[in-house]
Amino acid sequence: MNSYSKSIEAFSRAIEVIPGGVNSPVRSCKSVGENPVFIASAHGAYINDIDGNSYIDYVGSWGPMILGHTHPKVIEALCNCAQQGTSFGAPTLWETQMAELICSMMPHIESVRMVNSGTEATMSALRLARGYTKRDKVIKFEGCYHGHHDSFLIQAGSGALTLSTPNSPGVTASTAKDTIVAQFNDFESVHNAFRLYGEDIAAIIVEPIPGNMGVVVPNRKFLQQLREICDIYEALLIFDEVMTGFRVAQGGAQELYDIVPDITTLGKIIGGGLPVGAYGGKKHLMDNLSPQGPIYQAGTLSGNPLAMTAGYTTLSTIKNNPHFYTELEEKSILLVEGIRENIKKTGVAAVCNRVGSMFTLFFTDSSEIKTYQDVCTCDTKKYAAFYSFSRDNGIYLAPSQFEAAFISIAHSTQDIERTIEANYNALMYLKNL
Ligand SMILES: *Cc1c(COP(=O)(O)O)cnc(C)c1O
Repeated sequence: MNSYSKSIEAFSRAIEVIPGGVNSPVRSCKSVGENPVFIASAHGAYINDIDGNSYIDYVGSWGPMILGHTHPKVIEALCNCAQQGTSFGAPTLWETQMAELICSMMPHIESVRMVNSGTEATMSALRLARGYTKRDKVIKFEGCYHGHHDSFLIQAGSGALTLSTPNSPGVTASTAKDTIVAQFNDFESVHNAFRLYGEDIAAIIVEPIPGNMGVVVPNRKFLQQLREICDIYEALLIFDEVMTGFRVAQGGAQELYDIVPDITTLGKIIGGGLPVGAYGGKKHLMDNLSPQGPIYQAGTLSGNPLAMTAGYTTLSTIKNNPHFYTELEEKSILLVEGIRENIKKTGVAAVCNRVGSMFTLFFTDSSEIKTYQDVCTCDTKKYAAFYSFSRDNGIYLAPSQFEAAFISIAHSTQDIERTIEANYNALMYLKNL
């Protein structure tokens, strides 16, 4: 049995000086009723806590660690870069090289601006869309997450499209009135919004493969219809690929589903484990940004040399391996098919959704999870028990039912087989609860 005594002590110390003891809420493990483990180190597919417990990691820092932790090439490049300096506040070749690489891997990006987080990327993309179209409103989807910017911390009001409300204190009602909340995989809800507000809508922002309510598989037709209605109303389509960019394919979800967005937002993998975000699109659109154009956006540490180096090394390692995504897909199929087999064998009510190397095991009586409403049928108490059992047995998962799990290229067949076995034991444990 694992001991967590050092983590328990560390958390009680942290909670005195850090709100909730954590610098991002989901890390607190509150939704699964656990004390978080404090991390000491991570290598490859493994993460180690300060009590000396080791786990196979399926969080991967919430997505960035697609090569596994402390990849030797990334660490070497970082050490070399740090010798040259850590920030200059002036242009560097590292930034141009990074932008060229992103444009070469994502063909619908011709010009790209680097920022420091996914939140900054979506916030800036929305400003660009509003400044360009000279319109105020944005459509987002219930259950999709785009960072903690005010315009996106909005929930659907009770019933009518007209009544969006803030879902955090501190977000103003006047901000909420410009965000329209629609339903993912339900084009009618989008169509209704355009019927009501068509001429005022600057953009649709969407996670083309939602991961932040757990993985939901998009209908390709739905994504296509988003593209079409944006064209009809001259609104912009923003694909928030902070999670899916370089995750589900080299060119992201837009490559997988063959849809051309106007603006793409990126983060997570492009930082290779350092804090980075980016947004890009056609050059004529991006040139509306300051200093070329009038729409202001800036950042003291944007394009930071260390962040560019970690990102560049990660992306070029992916690009230089022509089998990268096939290998990752094979690992992912092996794991998820194993989990689905376990569901059948144990008879536990669950559904496992997967796109590429992202997946979610939903505990639900529903036969499929295709919408936010389906997601809401999940049994979070069951997930909490599953989480704790898995952690006690060396499997590190997100401490919430409504998250994606990530497989890295460093997960070996043996790691995956061990995970399938642990998953079977966890499901048997749930069955006998
Ligand atoms: C993680 C995430 C964000 C926010 O990125 P941060 O770096 O946490 O600000 C935005 N959009 C999506 C789709 C994400 O998964």
